[in-house]
Amino acid sequence: MQHRALFLDRDGTINVEKEFISNPDEVELIPGAAEGLLLAAAHGFKLFVISNQSGVARGLMTEDDVVRVNQRLIDLLGSEGAKLDAVEFCGHHPSVTGRCECRKPRRGMVDRILKRFDIDLARSFVIGDRVFDVELAYNIGAKAIMVMTGYGVLEVNALNPDRKPDYVARDLQSAVQWILEHE
Ligand SMILES: [Mg+2]
Ligand SMILES: [Zn+2]
Repeated sequence: MQHRALFLDRDGTINVEKEFISNPDEVELIPGAAEGLLLAAAHGFKLFVISNQSGVARGLMTEDDVVRVNQRLIDLLGSEGAKLDAVEFCGHHPSVTGRCECRKPRRGMVDRILKRFDIDLARSFVIGDRVFDVELAYNIGAKAIMVMTGYGVLEVNALNPDRKPDYVARDLQSAVQWILEHE
């Protein structure tokens, strides 16, 4: 059976944006994020985090740091009952490590997930605070929701007029509420 999914940005969408988070102690959930994810899962959505972490390429953190930070996120969400189905990241940056297939808005992280899960992309959503999150949704044929947490307030002005999000939400929790009201 095909599942619907939320492809979730991490920093500025689930946890508070703090620029290149390398220490698990810096992970701070955005209020309502865990409740929103729990609600989405209860309605049958798979929950996937896909995160650009160019701090690895820039030498600001290691891949192990990213894994530890991701584990803290998993633990914090889990303590509120929200379980992520998979977490993927891209540690590359084109000016350092060259072009890769996984850095958003390219679809490589989504393709890694599609090898393990049967997902109906047309009924799925990308939720994030950056233009490249919205562009990813167009690139995979999913719907896009931009959140006004993180860099959202700045990035909403930089959207491609031909590639607008389906909805601009105050935060992740209200994004999920909008999805459930419009399905
Ligand atoms: Mg972000
Ligand atoms: Zn990459």
